[in-house]
Amino acid sequence: MHISIIGSGYVGLVTGACFAELGNHVVCADNDIKKIACLKKGLIPIYEPGLDELIKSNLKKKRLNFTSSIADAVNAGEIIFITVGTPSLENGEADLTGIENVARKIAKNMSGYRLIVEKSTVPVETGAWVKQTVSAYAGKKHKFDVASNPEFLREGQAINDFMHPDRIVLGVESKKAAELLTALYKPLKAPILITDVKSAELIKHASNSFLATKISFINAVSQVCDKVGADVSKVALGMGLDGRIGKDFLNAGLGYGGSCFPKDVDAFIAISEKLGYEFDLLTAVRNINSRQREFFLEKIKNTLWIIKGKTIAVLGVSFKPNTDDIRSSAAVDIIRAIQKEGAKVRVYDPKAMKKAAGALNKTVTFCNDAYSASKGSDCLLVLTDWDEFKELDFLKIKKLLKRPVILDGRNIYDPQEMRKLGFTYESIGRKSKD
Ligand code: NAD
Repeated sequence: MHISIIGSGYVGLVTGACFAELGNHVVCADNDIKKIACLKKGLIPIYEPGLDELIKSNLKKKRLNFTSSIADAVNAGEIIFITVGTPSLENGEADLTGIENVARKIAKNMSGYRLIVEKSTVPVETGAWVKQTVSAYAGKKHKFDVASNPEFLREGQAINDFMHPDRIVLGVESKKAAELLTALYKPLKAPILITDVKSAELIKHASNSFLATKISFINAVSQVCDKVGADVSKVALGMGLDGRIGKDFLNAGLGYGGSCFPKDVDAFIAISEKLGYEFDLLTAVRNINSRQREFFLEKIKNTLWIIKGKTIAVLGVSFKPNTDDIRSSAAVDIIRAIQKEGAKVRVYDPKAMKKAAGALNKTVTFCNDAYSASKGSDCLLVLTDWDEFKELDFLKIKKLLKRPVILDGRNIYDPQEMRKLGFTYESIGRKSKD
């Protein structure tokens, strides 16, 4: 099939590369000219395991092309996926200017029937607006359909998620749209749920908000554990063994971050309010999430007393492991907060340092590994749970640190083990008595 993808970021590139890998002819477009120039040369602007190889091999097979001309992309594909960003506005609503802009460009450049598919995460009723916009701006009157096909991939395992999804949701208004999208996704052999457009849009916001709720729930439980001296990881295990609850998304820590959960929770609260429903549950989820970072800062102060003038080693800046994405990363917030208090910060992250260097205050020292970050530091903070941090030589770290103090925001070490090694060790909701 001939497919165009407009917006070549995390979702657009993975979607484009995977559809090409499945044998389709794909054109990926973006209005970032520099990004497209790099992609044409096979230089991938993001870190996502396996993406580099997939793009290069499909470029070679000429099944994947890149363009900065949206008009060319609209011309090339019968099915056009919109995968531009939908960031938060100040008031929490989703900023849909990118979607509207692309809808107008599609309208002006259509040269026959087009199936326009929203893959970006958008509030309910965006499909209706896209349809209205395309009708209003269409140069020649060509038939078109608008569909919603929300994306559920996770950064860090995006290709596997795309190729082996739990479900594919297709919100459609016509038989033709349902047939085209069902045929396109058939090779994945995954369950396909066909709904109306509004329900599909809501499935995405509801799913992400539910997952965020699970995280905030266990973080709230971790606060009670901290106060009473219980272990939240054991509580989570005991809860998760109940099949109705499930063990996923029950890791207490610094809270959720990234480019999706915070903005999608905000956008779901905002659209619900606009429609006349106060989604109080989600407001609480959001508040618990931001308080979790504040609690961690208090833990740092309770351990170090004065932060001003201290050197603090930080492991992890990305919002989660296996990605270089630092958008709404708890680590970035915490680094900024300790810098504001006057700390010198030494950071190590396996993949996100380049992006972090662009976002953080210039006084941060970026280090080659965890050991170099620890050298001469008054304490060590673990802010992202990269696997490589689980296998460090702690006797070496202890010698390098000025004081053997570790504050683990992701609960990746065993408290007893760390104390046995001679560390003052603090984590989240695991203040179990020795
Ligand atoms: P991104 O910022 O990585 O990529 C968006 C791309 O769109 C950028 O390259 C940008 O230059 C381009 N763009 C913006 N406006 C454009 C325009 N008018 N014309 C052409 N290109 C334009 O964002 P992302 O992480 O890929 O997310 C895209 C959408 O997918 C968002 O709505 C997001 O919520 C959703 N989503 C993201 C993930 C994820 O894990 N990143 C998962 C599921 C859904």
